[in-house]
Amino acid sequence: MQRFQAFKFALMPTGEQERQMRRFAGACRFVFNKALALQKERYTQGEKKLGYTELAKELTAWRNGSETPWLKDAPVHPLQQALKDLERAYTNFFAKRAGFPRFKKKGQSDSFRYPDPKQIKLDQGNSRIFLPKLGWLRYRKSREVLGTVKNVTVSQYCGRWFVSIQTEREVEQPVPQATTAVGIDLGVVRFATLSDGTVYAPLNSFRRHEEALRKAQQAMSRKKKFSNNWKKAKAKVLRIHARIANARRDYLHKTSTAISKNHAMVCIEDLRVRNMSKSAAGTAEAPGRNVRAKSGLNKSILDQGWFEFRRQLDYKLAWRGGHLITVPPQNTSRTCPCCGHVSADNRQTQARFLCVECGFEENADLVGAINILRAGHARCACEVSGAVMPPAAGTHRSASRAAQCRT
Ligand SMILES: [Zn+2]
Repeated sequence: MQRFQAFKFALMPTGEQERQMRRFAGACRFVFNKALALQKERYTQGEKKLGYTELAKELTAWRNGSETPWLKDAPVHPLQQALKDLERAYTNFFAKRAGFPRFKKKGQSDSFRYPDPKQIKLDQGNSRIFLPKLGWLRYRKSREVLGTVKNVTVSQYCGRWFVSIQTEREVEQPVPQATTAVGIDLGVVRFATLSDGTVYAPLNSFRRHEEALRKAQQAMSRKKKFSNNWKKAKAKVLRIHARIANARRDYLHKTSTAISKNHAMVCIEDLRVRNMSKSAAGTAEAPGRNVRAKSGLNKSILDQGWFEFRRQLDYKLAWRGGHLITVPPQNTSRTCPCCGHVSADNRQTQARFLCVECGFEENADLVGAINILRAGHARCACEVSGAVMPPAAGTHRSASRAAQCRT
């Protein structure tokens, strides 16, 4: 089984290397924006969108032309990758996975990617990596890189530079150590409730830092834009954002690791988090209902990092030979696990479940988790037997993996 894994480290560049990295990230951004402007212009003139090969030819012309000769100083592969990124942005847009590609701004995801492993040298013994046009860069080695290097991304965040090394290696087909199956109900009051009764408290990292962030943002707004004091205040805002992101990442990793170690099959609801967060405000023609209450909920949803959590569970389970199964969210909060009665009346409050038919009473999140586990078992069984499948609820990957699952 092939395992793809990324290893990320902080770089310790020299002053000259840092200036170069800033220039390269800028050149990639320039190429992305110029290509996007070109595509937009062609569209308004009724011309066909250019494919990657044609864009790459344009890039050669830009590099050799007199208008932007400085593009020649940047390594060519990362510039081509910027064009590939634009291609992907268009593909995602046409597949309705994302909005229309937008122009990149300076300081917003500054990064560039080296796709050719032949041009990259990794010297782990001396904690350094060789990249075209940058030379040997020292990095803070926190662990050993495993596998063969496939590509490398250099990125800047909060004034620090990082290298992410994507590798590939052959590992033995893992045999799950755990044998149990569990359902997970994701919520706002509790981050996650497991069908075995385990509860994970909410993260709310954003809420906790909200006050500090608000103050820092106010301080920034009082400064004259682009003055030295404004830059200092802005750096502080970015630092708080970074702290929030770190706390969240840490929490999500700990939780997803614990769950994937303890269980071989994990069932989770297919919540379309992006739709939920988008729908609150509504549109000008059809303004959303309960906008205030919902936007409060949405803030919490986004804050919890459910999407990232699901992504982590998916790959961590796969590493250990387990499976993530997504089930459609219909009725999971309204079905009685005891007698099977389905009614909205079963759930009188957010927290309590009380069956109007048989009187079964339990915490509502736990009931949700139990129903999700049942739905997961059902889904698994019917896919294995090749029976008619309910409309695909999971991502393609989870669904195909569910097909291999035996319970
Ligand atoms: Zn009942």
